[in-house]
Amino acid sequence: MSPEEKKERRKASDKVYRESHREEHKAYMKAYQKAYREDRREELDAYNKAYREANKEKTKAYREDHKEEKKAYLKGYLEANKEEINAQKKAYREDHKEEIIARVNAWQDANPEKMKAHRKAYRAKHKDLIKIYEKTYYEANKLQVQAYREDHKEEKKAYNSEYYETRKEERKTYQTAWRKSNKDKIRAYNSARNKRKYGLVKPRTRERDNHTCQICGKAWTNGPALSVHHINYDDTDNRMENLITVCVTCHAKTTFGNRDEWQAYFNFKGVKAI
Ligand SMILES: [Zn+2]
Repeated sequence: MSPEEKKERRKASDKVYRESHREEHKAYMKAYQKAYREDRREELDAYNKAYREANKEKTKAYREDHKEEKKAYLKGYLEANKEEINAQKKAYREDHKEEIIARVNAWQDANPEKMKAHRKAYRAKHKDLIKIYEKTYYEANKLQVQAYREDHKEEKKAYNSEYYETRKEERKTYQTAWRKSNKDKIRAYNSARNKRKYGLVKPRTRERDNHTCQICGKAWTNGPALSVHHINYDDTDNRMENLITVCVTCHAKTTFGNRDEWQAYFNFKGVKAI
């Protein structure tokens, strides 16, 4: 056998050996490297730290340059491994359930303002859904809800009154602004309610009194209609002869003044039924 042939044979046999011991060798190298790293951990840590420190700006610039690339890569990776990642997440959550709940609760306790804002934003975003949910829940649990409300009536009352007390000014400002911006709505509501309550009695009273205040004589020209006053102060007595047309100013006089005197005044004047 020539030396050349010997060399070739040796090479081939080495190859076969390496092939058959590949996994073994891999494991050995891995363990060796691990042990090496363990032995020199402090040294390596110090080296890595120094390296990072020295290349900080460079690394930052590199990251900045490859930001979009990385983002795209991550997105692709997440998308491609969605199922697996979700399963992993789920398993992790199952395994660490108590821990997670405790952590979330602790965070919520430590950040009440953030939670408040978060709840508010959530309610605003899902307003319609919440309404539907509440309605459905109420329909399905009517008796329980009513019983619960009955049981917590006093509590709620106390809470409400405290709430109103602490936000009195805020509420006032809010209500004034609301009334101002919903003027037409309020007027339509009041007029519908009056129609329901009095039918055509009030307009007929005004018609009969010639759209003129029956105390001071002021005539209606424009703006809100003149008031109609119940002569005997019984709001349910809507007979025409118990009603009289008055302006807002005079209506205040009949409401807050001496009621007997005002009643006598109208009786003396005599009010017609039609
Ligand atoms: Zn008047």
